[in-house]
Amino acid sequence: MSPPSCLRCETPMEKGFYVDFAHANLMQSRWCAGDPEPGWLRITEVKGAQAKAGIRVVAYRCAACGYIETYAPPE
Ligand SMILES: [Zn+2]
Repeated sequence: MSPPSCLRCETPMEKGFYVDFAHANLMQSRWCAGDPEPGWLRITEVKGAQAKAGIRVVAYRCAACGYIETYAPPE
């Protein structure tokens, strides 16, 4: 996917990603279908097939105005 231009100011956007923390590891965020389930100590859990089916989330940021767009492209 080629970097999009900002919808707000039409500046070319920079590719990046969101970081998640899991068991002291840094991981790329994933998009999962459906709703998360509340887990132990109210920590959200993504279970079974839902976790395996997750798609890495790609984020594009506009350096001029800070607008961010996110995508979950096919892997
Ligand atoms: Zn912009």
